[in-house]
Order: sequence, then structure tokens, then C-alpha cells
Amino acid sequence: MRSKKLIWHIFPINLCITLGAIYLVTWFGSVTLQNFYHTQKTQALEDRARLIEGQVSDFLSSRREKELEEFCRMAGRKSSTRITVILPSGTVVADSNEDAARMENHGDRSEIISALNGTTGSSIRFSATLAKKMLYVAIPLYPGIENANERKADPFGVLRLSFDVSSIDEILEGVQLKIVFGAIILAMIAAAGTMVVAHRISRPLERMKDGAERFALGDFKKPLVATDDMSLEVRALSESMNRMARQLEERFNTILQQRNEQNAVLSSMLEAVIVVDTNEKIVGINKAASKLFNIRSQDAAGKSIQEVIRNIQLQAMVREILASDTAVVDEVVVNKSGSEFFLQTNGVKLFNNTGECFGALMVMNDVTRLRRLENVRRDFVANVSHELKTPVTSIKGYAETILDSAFEDADQTKKFLEIIVRQSNQLHAIVDDLLSLSKIEQNTDKEGIVLTRGKVKYVLNAAAQVCSLKAKEKDISLNIDCPEDLEVAMDSSLMEQAVANLVINAVKYSDPGSQVKIWGYEIDQDDKEMLAISVQDYGVGIGKEHLPRLFERFYRSDKARSRKLGGTGLGLAIVKHIAQAHNGTVSVESEIGKGSVFTILLPVSHDDEVS
Ligand code: ADP
Repeated sequence: MRSKKLIWHIFPINLCITLGAIYLVTWFGSVTLQNFYHTQKTQALEDRARLIEGQVSDFLSSRREKELEEFCRMAGRKSSTRITVILPSGTVVADSNEDAARMENHGDRSEIISALNGTTGSSIRFSATLAKKMLYVAIPLYPGIENANERKADPFGVLRLSFDVSSIDEILEGVQLKIVFGAIILAMIAAAGTMVVAHRISRPLERMKDGAERFALGDFKKPLVATDDMSLEVRALSESMNRMARQLEERFNTILQQRNEQNAVLSSMLEAVIVVDTNEKIVGINKAASKLFNIRSQDAAGKSIQEVIRNIQLQAMVREILASDTAVVDEVVVNKSGSEFFLQTNGVKLFNNTGECFGALMVMNDVTRLRRLENVRRDFVANVSHELKTPVTSIKGYAETILDSAFEDADQTKKFLEIIVRQSNQLHAIVDDLLSLSKIEQNTDKEGIVLTRGKVKYVLNAAAQVCSLKAKEKDISLNIDCPEDLEVAMDSSLMEQAVANLVINAVKYSDPGSQVKIWGYEIDQDDKEMLAISVQDYGVGIGKEHLPRLFERFYRSDKARSRKLGGTGLGLAIVKHIAQAHNGTVSVESEIGKGSVFTILLPVSHDDEVS
């Protein structure tokens, strides 16, 4: 139903009641007035009839019709009344206003019938003869009127007096017209009064409506103010609403605080959290999850998980959680910018306080690092076993052969023993490198490496010294180029080991007679002052495809050559770890056949000691 303004609820009813009351009073008044008038008039006519009853009876009984007519005319004129005399047959004998002979039979008129029955008859009718509304009063006529006994006989005529009553109707019409005017004015006053009353009622209600709307929008600052124009009921209602607003505000604040706390907890969580409803639409997503799936939480809200996160495994898991009664745990793999992320995902259904399920919660723990470490460890164990297996098998084989030959062939025995020694050296080198690698790693983890400011040139000289024998064997010159005063915070012996590894490689993978350059210099990288140590050779060079994995443990770009030269495949891994222990990096530039440049970059710190 369409709602109407308060005034339109009150005004029509008010107006109807007012007009109804006016109508009823008018009608009742008119009817009473008319009845009173008619009764009065009837009585007056009857009285007049009684006055002339005797004379008329005389004329009629003595059949002096002419005189009777004369009398009627005269009496009628004097009393402004129409007088008619009718015989029991209904024939009009005399009439004060009309020619009796020409008048129709009056035997069927109700007042005449009553009079002929011996009683006074009266009626109000519209007279066709006079074209007026007339009041008729008829009395029976008896011969010898003085004789009361005569009255018991049948009347021998009827005397009827009539009077024009249209005047009273006109008066009543005038009164009614005035009443109608009065009613219109009264209706207008009623309308104005209703408006005022409606306004008085609706004004405080309007204010309350505005207040309620403010409350609905969460603005509880301005309470509803009780004013003088408020009725007791409205005042009580406004107080109740203010109370309600206070309680709502308290609840809102509590909810807001709880939500903020929840948000703070969720956004500070390292784990990705996603909440979906039973239709698999996202209800909430925390910072970690938005970052992980590269989506904005406000864009994701309300959308289905299929639309927002294109991961079939996760979508299937959501369905499984919503269908299952127990917690679901699974590992979800996510592909992001070309790399795989492993998410240990725990999912549970969410229930409201009536025990109804309203969604699912998923907490995802990024275990990628763990998985990668596991892989690295697995690969490392496999690699170490593989690397150790070759020299060990070789040593075992040659030793057994020597034993089997019972030292019969001294030359061959010597050759085999030499191989055993070489393989033992290789084994020793691998174990040595593994030990230094793990020592560096351990020290780095425990922050046990002490960096002391020292001269770079000393380190380069020492490293060159270590490699000088091997360089000399291949007639390779080692050229050092480094300012005397160049200093950096470092662990000198580790740095010497790193540079030596690079120089040994440079010598190993260069042709005899070539040269190796060792530089120490300062450069600016991304507005940061850095110290660079580069080792350049003009040897075999390395293929581009090997460069990204060159610093991995046991990675060899040229396996055969490395093994032949007694390489362990760990030299560059050690260099990388030493650089990292100094918060630095190592990089390589190389071209097949032209040589390689390995560069260690270290941050320059001006503190005396950094640990
Ligand atoms: P290795 O003991 O085998 O030399 P490294 O870790 O020192 O192990 O080096 C890894 C691989 O990188 C080597 O096997 C070699 O193929 C390649 N390599 C390292 N340095 C050079 C270089 N200066 N020139 C060419 N190849 C190099």
C-alpha cells in the first residue's frame, strides 16, 4: 500500500465526521421543524374546520349548495385557506378556490377516506390542481352537529381545509442553504485545524525520522532532543530511540574494535588467509594473500574464488573444505612470475552461533624456501655421493688389482699407486672444499665472521702468491693492478681464499703462456660506493647457458676438462659464499674462446670494524 502523509490520514476522516455531523443535525433539525410546523398547521386547520363545521353542515343538510359555495369562498378568503366540501360519494359540492362542478371525484384521497371513517384525516401532497405542495385536513360532517348521538352515524359529508405548505419548505431550504455554507466554512476550519494538529503531531515525528536516519547511517553524535511540541508518547519514543542509539553505538564500537583487531592480526600474519562464503565467494583476504596472488583485497571481495584466483588445486580444495566435516590439509602449488610457490594449506569450515556453516577459512603457509632447501639438500647429497664415488671406486679398484697381482710387476704397481695417490688427492680436495664451504656457511649463519678493515692489495698479492707455482708451470703471468691504499672491511683469509680460487680457475682454464689480470678498484653501483675485485683471463671461456648456474655446488661447465684438471666443482660455490658472508656478490662475464672476468663486489664501509 502506498504510504500517505499523516495529514491525509487525519483530514479525510475528520472532514467526513464533521460533514456527517452537520448533515445529521441539519436533517434532524429540518425534519423536526417540518414536523412541528405540520403538526401546528394541522391543528390550526382542524380548529378552523371545527369553527365552520356547524354552518357547513347546515348548508349541506338543507341542500343550499349555492350558499354553501358562497360561504366557502368568503371563509376561505378571510382565513387564506382553501375550503372544500365533499359528499361521501367523493363528489365535490363546494370549493373556495375552484369550480366544484369541474373538480374530479375526491373519494380516493387518504384524508377523505379517514374522515368518512369518522376520524380527522390529514395528508401532505402535491396538488395537481394548484401545482403546489398542500396540507390537507379533513373532518367528517354530521347532520345536527349539536347532537352528540348523531356523530355515531355515518358522516354525510366531509369538510376539508387545505393550506399551501410550500412556504415552510422554502424557509427550510433557505435554512439548509445557510447550513451548507456554514458546513463549507466549518469544513475549511476543520481542514485548517486538522492541518495544525497533523503538523503538530508530524513535526516531532519528522525530527525523529531524521534522527533515526542519522542513527541508521551510524551517526550517533546528535541524540534526539525532547521539545515542548512533543506529546507524552512521542517524548517517550524519542527517549527509547536515544537509549537504542546509545546501545547501538556501544555495539558498533565493540564490533569496530574487534574488526580492527582482527584486521591487524590478519594483516600482520605472514600466512596468507582467505575466507569464502558457502557460494565460494571471497569474503576476506589478508595482505599476505593479496601479495601472494597479486590481487587487491577490495577488488576480490564479493567475487568467486574461481574468478579471482586461477588455481585449479586451490579451487578444488575450497570445494573439498565446504563438503567435508573435518579440517582439510594439503599442499597447493602456485605459479607466480615463472616460479613455483609451495603453500601448506589448512582449511576449515566456519560456523555461526546457530551452528550453521557460513563459509570456509584457508590459511596458507609459504613453504617454498623449505621445499627448495629440501631439494638443494637432496641434490647436494646426491652430488656429493656421486663426486666421492668416482675416486673411491677408482682407489678401491686399483688397490685390489695391486693386491691380486701380488706386486709382480713393479712398474705397473707404481703406476697404479700413482693413480691411487691422485684419486686420494682428488678425494682430499673435495672433502677439503666441502669442509671450507660448511665452515663458511656455519660462520655466516652464526654471524661468526669478523670483518676487519684491511688493504686489498695485500690480499691480492697473497692470493697470487698461492697460485704462483701453478701459474709458473703453465708460464702464465699474474698481473696485479690495485691502489696501495685501497681498503675494505673483510675477513682477509677468506677473501684471499676466494681470490685464490678465481686465480686458480683462471690459470687452469687458460692456455700456457697467457696472462691473468687481478684488479682491485672502487666503483659506484646504484649510488653506492662498492669495492670490486676482478680476475680476468684469456682462456677457454664459458658458454652463456652455463652462466646462471655456474656458482652452484658441483656445477661444471666443462666436466671432462674440470675432472682432468683435478677440479672439485666447489671452487666457485666457495667464492659465492665468501662474497655473501661479506654482504657482497660475485658475477661473471665470459665468452667462449675469449676468456672470462669474475668480479667480487663488496660494500665499502667506513667503520673501522664491522661484524
Ligand atoms: P672446478 O673445480 O671444476 O674448477 P669451480 O667451481 O671452480 O669448479 O668452477 C666451476 C666450473 O666453472 C668449472 O668446472 C669450469 O667449467 C668453469 N670455470 C670456472 N672458472 C673458469 C674460467 N676462468 N674459465 C673457464 N671456465 C671456468
